[in-house]
Formats: sequence, C-alpha cells, structure tokens
Amino acid sequence: MTASIIDGNALSALLRQQVTDQVKALQARGVNPGLAVILVGDNPASQVYVRNKVKACEQTGIHSLLEKHDAAMTEAELLARVHALNQDKQIHGILVQLPLPAHINAEKVIEAIAPEKDVDGFHVASAGALMTGLPGYWPCTPHGCMKMLEHIGYSLRGKHAVVIGRSNIVGKPMALMLLQAHATVTICHSATPDLKAHTLQADVIVAAVGKRNVLTADMVKPGAVVIDVGMNRDDEGKLCGDVDYEGVKQVASYITPVPGGVGPMTITMLLVNTLASAEQHAAS
Ligand code: NAP
Repeated sequence: MTASIIDGNALSALLRQQVTDQVKALQARGVNPGLAVILVGDNPASQVYVRNKVKACEQTGIHSLLEKHDAAMTEAELLARVHALNQDKQIHGILVQLPLPAHINAEKVIEAIAPEKDVDGFHVASAGALMTGLPGYWPCTPHGCMKMLEHIGYSLRGKHAVVIGRSNIVGKPMALMLLQAHATVTICHSATPDLKAHTLQADVIVAAVGKRNVLTADMVKPGAVVIDVGMNRDDEGKLCGDVDYEGVKQVASYITPVPGGVGPMTITMLLVNTLASAEQHAAS
C-alpha cells in the first residue's frame, strides 16, 4: 500500500479562500477583522513565523498589527501592551509570539490576554473550554490536524488514536479533540516504555515530538492514518518531521508530508480563529 498524501498546502488554500470570502462579508457589515501580533526580541525563527502570519493575514484581507519590541522590553511593559490591545475594538485576536525572553513570564502574559481574543488558544480559559467541551478557541496546530482528518472524510468514532507527545500546545489539546470526536485515545510521551506496542494498535497516529524517525514503518499498523506535526532538520539541514516519511508511506493509508502538511494548516487555523472572533464581535 502507498499512502495518499494529505496536502496541507492545498487544504490551506481552500480554507484561506473561504476566510477571504467571509472577511469580505464581514467588512460589508462594517467589521474589519484584526489580528495583533507581538514579537519581543530578535529570535530568527520567531521572525519568520511572525512574517508568515502577517503575510497570511494580508492575503485574506485580515487587518494585521505587527508590534516588534526590543528584547529589553520589561514584563510590565508587555503586559501594558496586552491590556491596551484587549481594549482595542479594531483588534479581535492577540498573538504573543513564543518564546519570550527569559526575564518575561510567558504564562503571565498569556493569561493577560482576554480569552475572547485568545486566537492561539493557549489561555487557561481556552484550555478549560476544550477540556469541558464549551465554546472557545482551539490551539491552531491540533485544530489544523483535525481539519485534515475531516477533509479526508475520516470518522474518528470508535477508532483508536495514539498521540505521541503531551505538550500543552500540541499533544494534550490534540488528544482532547480526538476524544471529543469519539476516538479512544492513548497519549504517549518520553516515559512511555514501549512506544511501538501502542502505535501498532492505532488507527490514527499523531506524532508531535520534535525528533526525527520517532515513528518508523515497523511501528505502524497497515492502513493507519499518520499525521506528522514534528519540525526537525535532517543531516543536510532540510526540514523534516518526526515520521520516517518514505518508510511509513508504504504502510499507512494517509500521511501528511513535512513540509507542506501540518505547518501551513497551523497558520490557516489562526486566520479561522481570528475571523471567528470578529464574527462573535459583530454578533454582540
Ligand atoms: P515539546 O513541548 O518539546 O513536547 C514534545 C513531547 O514529545 C513531550 O511531551 C515529550 O515527552 C515527548 N517525547 C520526547 N521524546 C519522546 C520519545 N522518544 N517518545 C515519545 N515521546 C517523546 O514540543 P511541542 O511544542 O509539542 O512540538 C512538537 C513538535 O512539533 C516539534 O518538532 C515542534 O517544532 C513541532 N510543531 C510544529 C508545529 C507546526 O505548525 N507544524 C506547531 C507546533 C509544534 P515529555 O512530556 O515526557 O517530555
């Protein structure tokens, strides 16, 4: 079997077109969706991520406000900016790019964002909403993975999903979303003694570790769906995921590539969340 590829670029283009149309409709009603992106310091990777987010906003007509601050910015100054943006009626989503410089408490900053503008879905209120099944913003990366499964028409009801990784931004919310979609969910992590014993049982595997070749073909049940969240560099410096793509492709029924899989979906879901926030604002 050779797996079908779930093309994150193609699905993103489709969803971004929908966002563009919905932004126009909202603008016609007098609401201009706006996203504020705050970058503190000059982390090169963060600069690229922020640039891509702003570019995606521009392409869909979402107004973006990019605030670049010096690495010496104090926590109090950053909190004051967040509080000001919470009050700003032109802004429907606030994203503080992580990581923040070591002298700033990232949790304190995230918790300062008004939950109704928490389009990254990292606030405790957003996490609690996901946990309890209440409305709230879902973290963009796992939400993008769910969209990919939805796109291939995959029904998770009664399926066994194995999530590798338990971070607050990917693994844990991913597991909750799969559970909400009626999968039976196993979460594996660095203390899981026999990862393969779990993955071999899985109908769906989501790898969110940050290590190359965590998932190889011998660890995958034939026909399983494999979603690769990982972003790593291979020996030649090229971007690659956590999954041995060439090997696993021969066993899985569907697989996401890296690059061109989950990555573009993450930014797309940020746009979707920002639009949803603006729509909430328009309805209130
Ligand atoms: P993280 O916070 O470092 O979490 C990694 C998780 O993997 C941890 O829960 C860790 O377990 C687990 N782990 C480590 N080694 C393992 C092993 N050998 N077997 C099983 N589990 C193991 O990373 P993250 O933020 O969740 O991100 C994960 C990956 O996704 C990274 O490569 C990141 O760059 C990528 N990512 C991609 C996107 C995207 O848009 N494509 C977005 C976000 C993240 P412990 O909890 O026990 O330490």
